[in-house]
Amino acid sequence: MSKDQKRLVIPGEPLGVIEEVLPGEGAYVDAEGKVRSTRLGYSIVEGGKVSVEPLRRPLLPLKPGTEVVGVVWGTERALHHVKIIGIAGKRPIRLQEPISGIMLKSHPANQGARPGDLILARVMRSDSEQVVLTMAGPSLGVILARCPKCGAPLKRVGYTLVCEDCGRVVLDRRVSDLYGKNPFRGTV
Ligand SMILES: [Zn+2]
Repeated sequence: MSKDQKRLVIPGEPLGVIEEVLPGEGAYVDAEGKVRSTRLGYSIVEGGKVSVEPLRRPLLPLKPGTEVVGVVWGTERALHHVKIIGIAGKRPIRLQEPISGIMLKSHPANQGARPGDLILARVMRSDSEQVVLTMAGPSLGVILARCPKCGAPLKRVGYTLVCEDCGRVVLDRRVSDLYGKNPFRGTV
C-alpha cells in the first residue's frame, strides 16, 4: 500500500489487518485483528501504519511553543476550557474555526483567569485529542477582561484591573503586560 491511497472512510470501516498494517492515529484493532477507523476522515498509509485524518483539520498545526489567543469559556476544579481563536505573533492569524484547548490549574499562573477572559497563552502539548495551554511565561496572561459587576471592559493599572465605570478592583487575574492589546480586536 502506498501513500497516495488516501481515501474517505467511515467509523468502523476496515482499513486492513494487523498482519499488514499497524493502527495509527484514528485507527484501532478489533477482536478479530482487523484495523478499523475510529472516525470519519481520510485514511493514510505511511511506514506500515494506517491513520485516519479527521475531515475537519485545523488550518495550522498548533506546535508546542506557539502563542495563541483564546477565550476562557468554562472552568472546572482542575482546568479551564479555552476556545482558541487565533495565533499570536508579529502577524496574528485568526483561525477560521476555533480549536478547543484546556489549561490546567495545577500551575499557579493558570489560576488567574475566569470565564469570559481573553487570554494570551502558549501551547504546551498538542495532539489530535487535545491542546494543552499555559499562561506561565513572559507576557502571557489575560489580555482582556470584563467587570464582574457591570460588564464594562476592565482597565489595567499596573498588574491590577480596575473598572472605570463602577470602581470595582479585580485582583485575581494574571494580567499580561500586553493587556488591552487584542490582536483580533473587532473580531471577538
Ligand atoms: Zn464595573
